[in-house]
Amino acid sequence: MIHSVSILGSTGSIGRQSLAAAERLGIRVEALAARRNISLLEEQIRRAKPSYAAVYDKKAAADLRVAVADMPVEIGEGLEGLRRAATVDCEAVVTAVSGSVGLRPTLDAIAAKKRICLANKETLVCAGSIVMKAAADRGAEIVPVDSEHAAIFQCLEGRRDQLKKILLTGSGGPFRGWTREQTASVTPEQAVRHPNWRMGAKISVDSATMMNKGLEFIEAMHLFGVTPDDIQVVVHPQSVIHSMVELVDGTVLAQLAVPDMGLPIQYAMTWPEREPSPYERLDFWKMRDMTFEAPDLAKTPCLALAMDCARRGGVAPAVMNAANEAAVALFLQGRIGYNDIYDRVAEAVRRAPDMADPTLDDILAADLEARQLVTGR
Ligand code: NDP
Ligand code: MG
Repeated sequence: MIHSVSILGSTGSIGRQSLAAAERLGIRVEALAARRNISLLEEQIRRAKPSYAAVYDKKAAADLRVAVADMPVEIGEGLEGLRRAATVDCEAVVTAVSGSVGLRPTLDAIAAKKRICLANKETLVCAGSIVMKAAADRGAEIVPVDSEHAAIFQCLEGRRDQLKKILLTGSGGPFRGWTREQTASVTPEQAVRHPNWRMGAKISVDSATMMNKGLEFIEAMHLFGVTPDDIQVVVHPQSVIHSMVELVDGTVLAQLAVPDMGLPIQYAMTWPEREPSPYERLDFWKMRDMTFEAPDLAKTPCLALAMDCARRGGVAPAVMNAANEAAVALFLQGRIGYNDIYDRVAEAVRRAPDMADPTLDDILAADLEARQLVTGR
């Protein structure tokens, strides 16, 4: 169990739940970071009393400095501020920013040997090999917050060497089974309404396109050191099983719980111990069916593309991720249609250079280029 934490992305869906969990568990919050939502960040600062807070947007940072002038908190800004928030004096960092902007601060936190409570999957998709190697070299713990990976992590505790196959479950999102013709007119409002989970806008759209499962496929490869052939995606619309592992002898272990991100967040903080929690319990009498099906890759081209990028390696996953971030932002702004997300990402991936062992600079350059290609800037 950790005793102090820094929360990157504290005003977001995972960030707010992480702050609540820290408060409930009596964990000291040493730093907070957000992009521009300073009204919520101010509330959080007044409550949690961190010594440091970072705001990515410089104008918002200046406004926050004025607003909390009566508090003993230092306010940083820009990427530097976010990186500093990742390295303040504390035991663990919750990486709950959205997007590959989380990459550098995560590497900084690893270099400072902090436990990473990892929600920001984009970081592993972009630079999983570099991040996992840095963590191993430095002896920094990475405990996944993403519910599927938290499930796999728990199923594998004490038996990593017995793993045969990962069964990565996913609900299939709100448009499961829809054809391209049917999804053509999907609006941002429809796409962010997930049947089982309340999440930030970007990941909700990713869940609808199944890109989220694709990102998680790559995230699982890196976290658990397996190849694409060792991971099978299983559509399980009820989201009761959060993922499973098949062991060498054929035994399958699953982790079940109500779909509430509070649970994996708490476990990432208390691991390897467990603490009581206030979350709803599974009631097997009320549970209706649990069903399973194979993903229809023809109807979920983003998932198929991510699986291809996982096999291709190099900068392909980083390009896919960056193009997806840019395309989803355009979709949420109403500037492109739902089906354009896949089209733009696929185009960026087609143009991605082949590179065997990209450096961090290669990855960041490919990320930037993919964003520029998608936004036309
Ligand atoms: P949200 O959009 O709800 O929150 C994102 C957070 O990151 C906000 O606090 C935002 O600040 C902050 N942020 C964004 N860009 C920057 C930046 N450049 N600098 C500093 N802060 C920044 O996202 P979620 O909480 O839904 O997701 C966060 C991460 O967790 C993602 O990687 C997602 O894939 C992952 N995840 C989320 C799950 C969920 O249930 N929500 C489940 C599993 C994984 P501001 O509010 O000021 O914009
Ligand atoms: Mg997930």
